[in-house]
Parts: sequence; structure tokens; C-alpha cells
Amino acid sequence: MANAPVPRAGILDIQPYIGGEQTVPGVARVIRLASNESALGPSPKVIAAYKAAAAEMHRYPDGAATEFRAALGRHHGLDPARIVAGAGSDDLINVLIRAYSGPGDEVLYSAHGFLMYPIGARSAGAAPVAAPETNYTFDVDAVLNRVKPRTKLVFIANPNNPTGTYLPRGEMKRLQAGLPPHVLLVIDAAYSEFVQRNDYDPGTELVDQCENVVMARTFSKIYAMGGMRLGWTYSTAAVADVINRVRQPFNVNAPAQAAGIAALEDMAAFDRARTHNDIWRPCLERELKALGLELTPSVANFVLARFPPERPARAAFESLKSRGILTRRVAAYGLPEHLRITVGLEDENRAVVDAVKAFLDGR
Ligand SMILES: *Cc1c(COP(=O)(O)O)cnc(C)c1O
Repeated sequence: MANAPVPRAGILDIQPYIGGEQTVPGVARVIRLASNESALGPSPKVIAAYKAAAAEMHRYPDGAATEFRAALGRHHGLDPARIVAGAGSDDLINVLIRAYSGPGDEVLYSAHGFLMYPIGARSAGAAPVAAPETNYTFDVDAVLNRVKPRTKLVFIANPNNPTGTYLPRGEMKRLQAGLPPHVLLVIDAAYSEFVQRNDYDPGTELVDQCENVVMARTFSKIYAMGGMRLGWTYSTAAVADVINRVRQPFNVNAPAQAAGIAALEDMAAFDRARTHNDIWRPCLERELKALGLELTPSVANFVLARFPPERPARAAFESLKSRGILTRRVAAYGLPEHLRITVGLEDENRAVVDAVKAFLDGR
């Protein structure tokens, strides 16, 4: 074994990303509230587009995702030439990290930020640096104070996963304005479609105003297509060119491109998903607060609940799981006292509240 191949420095420091659990042994109908998947599932029109693409699976996909990017451009009023498609936004996040950082560089993010950022940094040989948060929210000054000449990227998920908190437009502008021009600011707006705040922008404004900003988006959340692996970035033409050099040439499969176009056309399904969340997230928040749990102010399709030391999150997770309800432990995000719970269907939301109540009551 002494001469066995050894990976580059940093690779074995990676804690592999562990997705939400999907099954419970012995439980037939599991309530899955662990991965921020859409409660309502994909649009039937999206499923039809996916199936229709199957007959052509012997053909390579369009490596430039031309029609998909054109559809995104029309839908969002953006220049398709500055859009790049990816196999989920994780794909593009990793491409950005590899393209803009390497050994000796630092990648900045916030203490309870999305785990893919430190994982991506380490896999590129760069050092992830976490800045502290204030009230479970990205702290612009704390991040700016940690910028050094060797800082190459700053990541912010806005809104953030797993805290659900967001930064308003003014704070985002202040963040960008405080960064040296050589630092690339990546705004991961995976949950942007759920946000209903007048002072929120997903990142398009900053991308249009600045040279060093990228916005990443996904079809995994409100469009209910996590299994498809479809995401995109919007950036300057120069950054899009860099991504296009580094990404795999056929990173997005053909059925995913077809499904994405269909999803953009089905605004009724989009509105249903948004309305569902507008009704049920506040309801879930109200009920869990009434049980005495502390919640962060989420603007996304999940809530983050803090459990008391005498009824800890670890035990709550196991108790819910034994009742067939899967939630997400977030100790790896520096939040050992919390559980993240995705907004589900009405009966699922009622079931999780009942189960939390039973757990807190010691039943
Ligand atoms: C879910 C999520 C994503 C989306 O990942 P995909 O690779 O597009 O499925 C990106 N960022 C954050 C913060 C997320 O929670």
C-alpha cells in the first residue's frame, strides 16, 4: 500500500456531501421533507417533454443548449449569449471554482453557507474560508473583512440554504462594492423564485452593472426537477466564455434541455408551486413556533427550527424518522441544534407538526 496512488493535497480533507435521506426501513409511505424538493412535483407538460426526448437518446445533446438558453433569455429578459447551462447549478459552481481558484487561493463563504462551496474549493486545491454570520444571516462586513489578495471567489446563497434568510438589494450592492475587482462574486439564487420581497433581487441587476458578478440558478427547486440536473448561470460574456471552456462539452442531457423549455412555458404550474409555498410556509412556521421552537425568518421553501437542549435536534430527527418523516439534520452546517424542514403537501405539513408536538411532549 505504501506506493498506492495519492490524490492531490486537500482532497482527503473533503467531507463528502450527503444528500437528504430518501427511505425509512419498514415504512411504505415516507414523508420526504429533507431535500427542499417541490411538494407538488413536476408539471405534466414537463414530464411529456422529457418522455418525447427519449426516442432521440442515440443523438448527442446540443452542447451549447441553444434552444434552452434562448427560452431562458425570453423568459427572464436576458441575453442568451451570457447564459450557460449546467447539469444542476452544482455543476457550474464547481466549474467556476476550478476556473478561478487553485492551490494557494481562498474561497470565501459564510459560516452557515451551502456546503458545496467548501467542497468545491477543496477539490480545486483552494482553501475554503468561512466568515461568521449575524442572526443566521450573511454578514457583509464580516465577509469583506476577510478578503485578501489571494481571495478569488465569494459565494453567497441568496436566500441561503439551510437558514432561509436573505440579503436585500442594498446589502448585495454594498457587498459587491466592497470587493476588489479581481474577486468573483457568485450569487447562488437557487430559491429566488420563492422570494416575495420588494427589496430582493436574484442577482440580474448586479450582473448587469458589474464585471465580477455571476448569478447561478436551478430547476431543482420551484420547477421540481432535481432528478433532471438542470441549472444555469448569467454573467458577463467574459465569464460565460471561461465557463464554456472549462465545462464538459455535453454537460446537460437532451431530455433535461427539453424539459427545461417545457417548464418555462408552464407558468400555471410555476404559479401553483409559488402559491402553495406562500400558504404553507407561514402556516408551518406558525405551528412550529406555537410549539415553542425558534425559527429563522425563511423566505424559501423550507424552515429552520432550533430545538431546546432537553429535546435536542438529534433526537427529534430520529423520532420523526421513526414516524416515517424525513427532515434534515444540519450539524455539518454548524447548526447541531437545528433541523431543516421542507414545506410539503398539506397532509405532510400537518403530519410533521403533529410528530414534532408528540416528540416535544415526550410521546
Ligand atoms: C438546492 C441548491 C442548489 C441547487 O443545486 P442543483 O445542483 O441545481 O440541484 C444550489 N444551491 C443551493 C444553496 C441549494 O440549496
